[in-house]
Amino acid sequence: MKAIGILTSGGDAPGMNAAIRAVVRTAIYYGYKVYGIERGYAGLLEKDFREMDLSSVGDIIQKGGTVLKSSRCDEFRTEEGRAKAVEILEEFGVGSLVVIGGDGSFTGANKLSQLGVHTIGIPGTIDNDLAYTDYTIGFDTATNTVIDAIGKLRDTSSSHDRVNIIEVMGRRCGDLALFAGIAGGAESIIVPEMDTKTEDIVKKLKTTQKRGKKHSIIVLAEGAENIEGGALGLRSALTIEDKADVRITVLGHVQRGGSPSAFDRILASRLGNKAVELLIEGKSGRVVGIKDNKVIDMDIDEALSMKKTFDDDLYEMAKILSI
Ligand code: ATP
Repeated sequence: MKAIGILTSGGDAPGMNAAIRAVVRTAIYYGYKVYGIERGYAGLLEKDFREMDLSSVGDIIQKGGTVLKSSRCDEFRTEEGRAKAVEILEEFGVGSLVVIGGDGSFTGANKLSQLGVHTIGIPGTIDNDLAYTDYTIGFDTATNTVIDAIGKLRDTSSSHDRVNIIEVMGRRCGDLALFAGIAGGAESIIVPEMDTKTEDIVKKLKTTQKRGKKHSIIVLAEGAENIEGGALGLRSALTIEDKADVRITVLGHVQRGGSPSAFDRILASRLGNKAVELLIEGKSGRVVGIKDNKVIDMDIDEALSMKKTFDDDLYEMAKILSI
């Protein structure tokens, strides 16, 4: 019986450990040997394998980051690199590989699948930018981290009648800004998917100021390129046009850390368990995800060709609630 390998790749996300735990425990439950591969595809090419047992994944479900570490690896992007990876997997007797990561890591997994290694991808990224699944592992925790920051900034901005621009991650996806903005009660939410202009925010601030409200929370997604000059440009406009005292907080990598939320732990456990079940069924070149609270699996090519849709209704609701 061939062993199962597991690695984490690309940007880390809270809940990756819970997924590793679920994969290892499920595989061992069904009698498989499991190798943890350190530092993603880079560790694979450097034979950085360690056998995982039940206790190697004990006490990690609550931990942020990834105990297997993660990396980006250029050598794996080459045909020679992937051929070497197949040889190394064969050397260790690993016939199947679970890859936890984002779209780039999935593309790599798909290419390995075409070379005969059975692969399954688990979505681990705080960006929630994969169209085929309602949620990716880490997104909920990151949303909670942003809400926590908004709450703290709200206290101080109301004491000093300040406007706070909070820049959040998500790359070209506005989900993190939208969800955190709604849950944090932001006055304005700026996302890449909507054509919000600086003038719109200036106008909005004028309106809220007119009704006596001096403080304001603006959540700005890092990928919202329609705002000229980004957070700095927006601050200048609000300072000049609205005479506001504006502070910028860039949350940065703090959003990638922290103990995973209950939602992410449960999602990771379900997806990790399903990934191993699919491998046992002989499936390959697939990704697992969640749709309408049901665990699903899909062909990697199909999943990656889907275009992520933005929840316009939720965005419109946020606008109504923040008048
Ligand atoms: P995140 O969403 O956090 O950025 P990701 O999985 O998309 O995660 P990438 O840096 O795009 O992160 O990919 C991670 C690794 O996957 C790369 O360093 C590379 O080793 C491998 N990879 C990415 N794209 C390809 C590709 N087209 N072919 C082969 N391997 C790839």
